[in-house]
Amino acid sequence: MSRPKLLSPSAIEQPTLAVWKFASCDGCQLSLLDCERELVAVARRVTIASFPEASSRVIEGPYDVSLVEGSISTPADLERIEEIRRQSGALITIGACATAGGIQALRNGASVGDFVSIVYARPDYISTLAKSTPIADHVEVDFELRGCPIDRTQLLEVITAFANGRPPHIPSTSVCTECKARSIPCVMVADGTPCLGPVTHAGCNALCPSYRRGCYGCFGPAESANTASLDGHLAELGLDARDRERLWRGFAGWAPEFRAAADRAGGTDGAAGSGRAGAPAAEGSELR
Ligand code: SF4
Ligand code: SF4
Ligand code: SF4
Repeated sequence: MSRPKLLSPSAIEQPTLAVWKFASCDGCQLSLLDCERELVAVARRVTIASFPEASSRVIEGPYDVSLVEGSISTPADLERIEEIRRQSGALITIGACATAGGIQALRNGASVGDFVSIVYARPDYISTLAKSTPIADHVEVDFELRGCPIDRTQLLEVITAFANGRPPHIPSTSVCTECKARSIPCVMVADGTPCLGPVTHAGCNALCPSYRRGCYGCFGPAESANTASLDGHLAELGLDARDRERLWRGFAGWAPEFRAAADRAGGTDGAAGSGRAGAPAAEGSELR
């Protein structure tokens, strides 16, 4: 991910904002709708040119800021994201699907053809890529906002920052710092519950530990995540290799750091199994 792209002074006067959807559940777009009162203020400040969850109206580009939800799963997705990149001043990916492949990337470690033949009555109608991959695997991304779904306060901060031509202030620390800030007892220490919080990006305000549940990493890897150390501790807590591999391969399991941890836990590191970090969908991987 490159440094945030700042808008020119003319664009800052009334920037255009476009929201785009790829393979996803729409939950991150709903986070923007959930902003309610703040959304009215945003709508006064920017021209919303495309927002599929709110309106079928699309204003022609170019766009100053594009928010992209979802992962790249089909050949048509590939063409569309390249066109959106061409039309966008700044391109921001939102959510685990767009930043780490999302839950649909669970298929990446197996044969997509096997899934298609089981799920669909007419597999020959399906046009898909072998892997479901993050947006940054295909085009340059200016900022990645993590979460499943994203946090509405962080989303507003990102939109406001880009609309005002300044870098967004999003903490890059781990969920553990949010536990400490809220004085939430550590579920790993107190209960021996496995928790990916030490290596997971902050932003949810320690939601799962606040309900005495372990974090399963939906905000993706924190900066400098020491996954090897945590994996060792998870083994000490009694998780066998299979359980640890499954824990790492969650909502953000295709993020390179978590993928490497899963491969290490499952003993497939160095094998072709889960693919090269950041690799685009393989040539010839389209099913039809
Ligand atoms: S990141 Fe989660 S909430 Fe957002 S679109 Fe993907 S599945 Fe839905
Ligand atoms: S509960 Fe999890 S996120 Fe919270 S302090 Fe303990 S390890 Fe960190
Ligand atoms: S605690 Fe972890 S799994 Fe739960 S919402 Fe936060 S980042 Fe996601």
